Amino acid sequence: MKIDDKKAVAIEFTLEDGAGETIETNVGKKPLWYLHGQGALVPGLEKELTGKGVGDVVDVKLSAADGYGERDEKEIRNVPLRKFKAPRVQVGGRYQIQVAGGTQVVLVKAVNGDYAQVDGNHPLAGKALHFNVKIVEVRDATADEQEHGHVHDADGHGHHHH
Ligand code: ZN
Repeated sequence: MKIDDKKAVAIEFTLEDGAGETIETNVGKKPLWYLHGQGALVPGLEKELTGKGVGDVVDVKLSAADGYGERDEKEIRNVPLRKFKAPRVQVGGRYQIQVAGGTQVVLVKAVNGDYAQVDGNHPLAGKALHFNVKIVEVRDATADEQEHGHVHDADGHGHHHH
């Protein structure tokens, strides 16, 4: 079975930055399941995986623009503490804040009075990315999974949203 939209795909992956430092890996742990074609992975990686099958290995280097985008210095800004969902805000922590049209996860760089200085960039923004991905399993997504836009656990448990 080949990877395409509406397939549930399990992968083993290692992600390195442009300097060859490992950012994240699940090798030797449980594979990561995702629903293909829903933007769960960065676009440059999904594109490379399309049409591949079990056992194939994809090694892809992405520029920051094809990964999580370039850093935007305007994302370093001051936010009133009342916009934070957490009762306590600590420097160096990542928190959800209210923004126009929803929420955003930001890194707190400083707290001054009633304001926090935050960095709203994705942690991997501005970084070149090197993915090494092995395809472990490919199956048709269920109707439920297609409707929800994500993969459910094989045993059907652990699903607590909507
Ligand atoms: Zn669901």
